[in-house]
Amino acid sequence: MSLANNLEAVRQQLAGTPARLVAVSKTKPASLVLEAYESGQRIFGENKVQELCDKREQLPPDIEWHMIGHLQSNKVKYIAPFVSLIHGVDSFKLLREIDKQGKKINRPLPCLLQMHIAQEETKFGFSEAELMDTLASADFQSLTHVHVMGLMGMASLTDDKSQIQREFSGLRALFERLAAARIADFVQMKELSMGMSSDYRMALEE
Ligand SMILES: *Cc1c(COP(=O)(O)O)cnc(C)c1O
Repeated sequence: MSLANNLEAVRQQLAGTPARLVAVSKTKPASLVLEAYESGQRIFGENKVQELCDKREQLPPDIEWHMIGHLQSNKVKYIAPFVSLIHGVDSFKLLREIDKQGKKINRPLPCLLQMHIAQEETKFGFSEAELMDTLASADFQSLTHVHVMGLMGMASLTDDKSQIQREFSGLRALFERLAAARIADFVQMKELSMGMSSDYRMALEE
């Protein structure tokens, strides 16, 4: 299947749902990203700051660049001026650095808090207890240049579909609880980032 046909097939599955496709372009050359762009795709996800910045320079300015994956605090400054969404905010330390960089350029930076929903030890993210403590803390409440737009979670790498489904469903339930709570002016639970190529259909169901 051609890239354009493949993208169109996925977008058709999303039609009629509130979900958006983040086309993961990491490791792919700018020429392929352009091909996807020309087929109508506007949101791309990268997991390396250098690659993200390089591609942004080469590609059309109306692309929404999303940072997916682990972000190091010392690299936030490079993407702060343009990034559309930072998906993997997995510690308060990183959130504070994002706030600091946003303040410098007077741009509240849109981010998602990453929850640890998988069974593997290696995946990054907050536990539910850590998240609750963080949201209630004075340090969190005094942030000024972050815009927390929702949650992100990566399910376990497993063939056990019921486990993946439970992990997505738990994240969705947490998301809904937080969306109904008043946490801070700069927290708006609107986006739930979950699902990769192997499990996005299950994410869609949730
Ligand atoms: C690569 C990557 C994805 C996408 O994986 P696919 O299986 O290619 O869809 C999602 N999230 C993160 C953090 C990634 O690094």
